[in-house]
Amino acid sequence: MLKIVTDKVKSLRKKSFPCDLPLKEDEKKVLLEMLDYLRKSSNEEYCEKHKIRSGVGLAAPQVGINKRMIAISYSYDDKKIEYCLVNPKIIQNSLKEVALSNGEGCLSVPDDHKGYVYRSYKIKVSAYDLLQDKQIEIDAKGYDAIVLQHEIDHLDGILYYDRIDRNDRFKRKDNAVLI
Ligand SMILES: [Zn+2]
Repeated sequence: MLKIVTDKVKSLRKKSFPCDLPLKEDEKKVLLEMLDYLRKSSNEEYCEKHKIRSGVGLAAPQVGINKRMIAISYSYDDKKIEYCLVNPKIIQNSLKEVALSNGEGCLSVPDDHKGYVYRSYKIKVSAYDLLQDKQIEIDAKGYDAIVLQHEIDHLDGILYYDRIDRNDRFKRKDNAVLI
């Protein structure tokens, strides 16, 4: 099973390198393993049995590989969101912001860091998706946009608690919604 590194590991704070396309076999393998980890982690019994936490996204630096690859897997309202993105880039973002009212969490961060993590409410991401085997553009808003931004941050060595205002952890903003 993949080993997830925590925020005590220095490489998690490094900027990751872009991947050359087409992907190499070992890169494909690890990206699909990351997806597999997320799919399995959506099962509570599996998590208990293997002592892992459930997650909706995972970035390659979290498994010790500083390459610009992220996997995402979750479902809600009968909708399944799954991507294996390579070299994802945010090409548009709204001024309106959004944050999760319960704050964010991260498989690489064992401690709880309370506070609002404000991010763009709407974004457009360009990336190569291994699952569709093509270059795609994703229009995401709300929760979907939060997950993408959280994972893309990992590729630049940024963790969610870096974005919490330490002087006012639950600061409200006029241009932001809480979900
Ligand atoms: Zn994370």
